[in-house]
Amino acid sequence: MKLKYLGTAAAEGIPGMFCNCRVCRNALKIRGKEIKTRSQALLDDKLLIDFPADTYMHILNHGLDLRNIHNVIITHSHSDHFYPNDFWCRFEGIAYDIVEEPLNIYVTEAGYNKALRQLGEDMNETRVKFHKIAPFEPFDVEDYHIIPLAADHDSSSNPVIYIIEKGGKSLLYAHDTGIFPDSTWDYLEKYNKKFELISLDCTGMAQKNLRRSHLCLNTDKEVYDRLTEIGVCDKNTIVYVNHFSHNGMLTHKELVVEAEKYGFLVTYDSLEVVF
Ligand SMILES: [Zn+2]
Ligand SMILES: [Zn+2]
Ligand SMILES: [Zn+2]
Repeated sequence: MKLKYLGTAAAEGIPGMFCNCRVCRNALKIRGKEIKTRSQALLDDKLLIDFPADTYMHILNHGLDLRNIHNVIITHSHSDHFYPNDFWCRFEGIAYDIVEEPLNIYVTEAGYNKALRQLGEDMNETRVKFHKIAPFEPFDVEDYHIIPLAADHDSSSNPVIYIIEKGGKSLLYAHDTGIFPDSTWDYLEKYNKKFELISLDCTGMAQKNLRRSHLCLNTDKEVYDRLTEIGVCDKNTIVYVNHFSHNGMLTHKELVVEAEKYGFLVTYDSLEVVF
């Protein structure tokens, strides 16, 4: 599989639009990997994970081609992951010469309701079709087997993290979660495969002991150690930390140095990982 990180930031992005902190000022000056847009990733150029407002920017800057994408899986309803207003741009009379239709969007209850509010009752289902998903109810999309797991995050956003399997390979995409809930650990303990790649929330960067709602480097290590202990990770597993906030108070360059102390790699916008 090939995972391309299109956006690697939390809600504000780095730099935050109105922010004048050291990290945001540095990002504007240095640009490159210091600039981080809102969360989105793309598997094998075809399965899109999350749909923030920055999707348009990812089309312009990172070569995202939505015309080739027929399935989108959403982690939760927060705006840095899900901005359904823009699906209006695919409606009849707005987008022309659409060959494959509709675009399938897999989303939990809160996201579904948000889409209803933003797009209205007429969802134009010939162009955009929403499918409700729930934790621990696996589903198949194209040649992917997708298992949503419970996350520890704002419960009103109905958050999930994902196991995504294809061709004997397995990815754990775990953003916007604190230390996993017991139900997720119970599932993982019975999971009889190893992950080739795990992508962990690092909103708090080098802060210490951020355990609820988001994670930081030292709690990522705790999660990684437990995943190793239960046998779903080993030394061959690639470990990236991702989903960054200026509240973590480190620049990308500083974070790379800190993450290395834990053996973790740091994502940046447009990074591609093949596994
Ligand atoms: Zn987020
Ligand atoms: Zn800032
Ligand atoms: Zn969130």
